[in-house]
Amino acid sequence: MSVEQLTIASYKSSLKPIWCAGCGDYGAINPFYQALLACQIQPKDTVIVSGIGCSGRFPYFCDTYGFHGVHGRALPTASGMKTANPRLNIFAVGGDGDGLGIGGGHIPHVARKNVDIVYLLLDNSIYGLTKGQSSPTSPLPMLSKTAPYGFLEEPLNPLAMYLGYNVSFIARGFSGKPKQLKELFIQAIRHRGFAIVHVMSPCVTMNQHVTFESLKQLYAELPEDHDPASRGMAFERALDTSRLWTGLFYKEERPTLHDRLVDLNERAGRYENFKELLARFK
Ligand code: SF4
Repeated sequence: MSVEQLTIASYKSSLKPIWCAGCGDYGAINPFYQALLACQIQPKDTVIVSGIGCSGRFPYFCDTYGFHGVHGRALPTASGMKTANPRLNIFAVGGDGDGLGIGGGHIPHVARKNVDIVYLLLDNSIYGLTKGQSSPTSPLPMLSKTAPYGFLEEPLNPLAMYLGYNVSFIARGFSGKPKQLKELFIQAIRHRGFAIVHVMSPCVTMNQHVTFESLKQLYAELPEDHDPASRGMAFERALDTSRLWTGLFYKEERPTLHDRLVDLNERAGRYENFKELLARFK
């Protein structure tokens, strides 16, 4: 398909999403299709990798290549794909349980490598697919099936965590604000390096505490004088949980893993060829 022929339909698979009616994930996938079109992303050059959870179904509904892997392992799989074939557009998608619970340990290492991938983390503050257990972002004193008398653990602050790990592009959106989300996805796609778009995406079936209404009341866009080059300002906003600050928190241009591998290959190749390397081990 030529670039000129791409339309929104180019990105939609023949499978209709089977999320519950009103699920926040609909508010994330539509702006995602629009962002792919705006960036003229070729479906044949694109892979969407997901973990387990309702949002893990994302690849099924996109007419790209897809890989629905095991719980919490979308990031290492996506990193391997990008390293093996840097020409591909690689997206990782997962929820708060998948990405911040079992898979949370992968985020700092992808950040250190600055792998050029986009991670859509769809946060509904609950394990929806497995019928409503507390997740790493469930707020206190939320009741859930695993915490019938109230949750006991402090919720993570994912934005502060990404900043602490020095992720090179950090944005937060809300699936109730699809226009803003589309713009954030576009910026993330254009960023060279590891980009996280943290999307507040309510689970209307299993979570009666973090809802479209409650998030709308907290919702605020980062002020115009917010400087995404300032990690200090980004931390300040991330730590202010009195509002749901949204927009581009932080962005830094620095070498990607691919840049460093190219450089390494050049430096190594300058001194020896493969035969000389093997001869070292005789
Ligand atoms: Fe969406 Fe919740 Fe239904 Fe899963 S259970 S599809 S997260 S509304």
